[in-house]
Amino acid sequence: MQTIPESIPQFESEKKYHYIKTSPIDGEVVCEFYGADENTVSRVCEAAYQEFLNWSKVPPPKRIDLLTSIYNSILNAKEELVDCIQTEVGKIREEAVGEIQEALDIINFCIGLCRTLEGRIFPSERINHFMFEQWHPLGVCGVITAFNFPVAVFSWNAFLAITCGNSVVWKPSELAPKTAYTFMKILKNECEKQGFGNLICAVFGGPETGSFLVENNRTALISATGSVRMGSDVAQKCAKNFKKVILELGGNNAVIVHKDANLDLAVNACFFGIVGTSGQRCTSIRRLILHKDVFEQFMDKMIRKLEGVVIGDPRDPKVMMGPLISDAAALRFEEVVHFIKNCTDSEILYGGKLLDGFPVRNYVQPTLVKVNTPFDLINNETFAPLVYCFEYEDINDAITLNNSVPQGLSSAIFTDSLQVAFTFLGGSDCGLANVNTSTSGAEIGLAFGGEKQTGGGREAGSDSWKNYMRRQSCVVNWGGIFTLSQNINFPS
Ligand code: NAD
Repeated sequence: MQTIPESIPQFESEKKYHYIKTSPIDGEVVCEFYGADENTVSRVCEAAYQEFLNWSKVPPPKRIDLLTSIYNSILNAKEELVDCIQTEVGKIREEAVGEIQEALDIINFCIGLCRTLEGRIFPSERINHFMFEQWHPLGVCGVITAFNFPVAVFSWNAFLAITCGNSVVWKPSELAPKTAYTFMKILKNECEKQGFGNLICAVFGGPETGSFLVENNRTALISATGSVRMGSDVAQKCAKNFKKVILELGGNNAVIVHKDANLDLAVNACFFGIVGTSGQRCTSIRRLILHKDVFEQFMDKMIRKLEGVVIGDPRDPKVMMGPLISDAAALRFEEVVHFIKNCTDSEILYGGKLLDGFPVRNYVQPTLVKVNTPFDLINNETFAPLVYCFEYEDINDAITLNNSVPQGLSSAIFTDSLQVAFTFLGGSDCGLANVNTSTSGAEIGLAFGGEKQTGGGREAGSDSWKNYMRRQSCVVNWGGIFTLSQNINFPS
């Protein structure tokens, strides 16, 4: 059995938190490891801090050399990484390859950013004064990630962070340690070759190791991706120390299908939003809000597609949907279905079953639930391919329903009416709002993130890089005469 070290750079930890990672595909053991303890986390953060002092002096355009060599080495190791993601997370090949592509895309973006990290100039009210903003790196950025995108989400954070002159300490998910270790070996090797061996470090373990990273006084920023419960804990700990935080938490994403929508387009897009990554994307569709005139037609088409979904070992090219990540996730799915059947005024239109005939009980059917009377559980994210379906008449009611949950990550509408589309874009309270494409499947060019309990963080494209830097407002008086603002004439 492969044993993964507690940290990179390697330090010996107390052997207290033991983890055995098994594959969600068949229950086979993948690796074992001990979680990094507080002392190890401290030593790793200190090493990363010392490297930050070196790296932050490298002019941003010179940082391109390292990013380029990392890009090439990821490309060379693509098959190894895809294999890890499939075995550990249970993704089909197409999606695992897409995840590596996302890492490469963000590096491309960062390479451009190295020459365009800009500050703005502002007019001063004082004569012969020059006002501008500049941006400085923060120091050590702690990055905590969820299991479902073990390479991509870390990449959004880490490559932006180093582009901005920071160093990074990663606490990957305890459910995807081998992928993280394999990825880290590639990064460490490239960083070492260029003389910055501790620029990107890692501490392995579960929530306790994550907490040590959050509370370590060398981390200037914590970027945490995961459940709302985790984010709430991290946010409170960071607030105590006025530490910067980027939170990317759970979603409860809705798609509205208006009566004038192109139904085939809507069904095809929503199909991936329901089935993709076995419903374990933060942007997966959790709710379908369908106009009453198209409800039946949409459902007929969707159910026909769902009947054709091949569920099984994701390494088989015919398979479209792999397992859920763990027994606990499948049990949660089963409990929710049981509750829906027995305690609510709802109807299971399709699915609802855990599948037999596999070595583990992690395989579930994609499931559609027609909600007649809403119930509290709809406010929670069930991290599985389970979708609540609603009927509406008035578009304003549909938007109100879209906004009625505590989370605010992704939202979408299908319509051929500009008026309806823009009413929705103005009305959705989510960080992401799409027209005629699904909630799921973001590009790196835009800022990614959501509002309300999703945490308010923004990562990846647009000006998200500013979250990894501190702003400095500067005034230069070049005229040789002291002048006060607001016309204050103070006797000198
Ligand atoms: P999780 O919250 O169980 O774990 C996420 C990470 O946080 C893990 O590394 C875990 O060890 C760590 N952690 C847990 N509790 C902690 C604590 N108290 N202090 C510090 N670290 C802690 O989530 P998960 O099951 O791995 O992932 C699924 C969740 O992630 C879903 O809610 C999903 O919507 C969310 N997610 C959100 C985004 C986004 O961008 N908004 C992206 C991916 C996943």
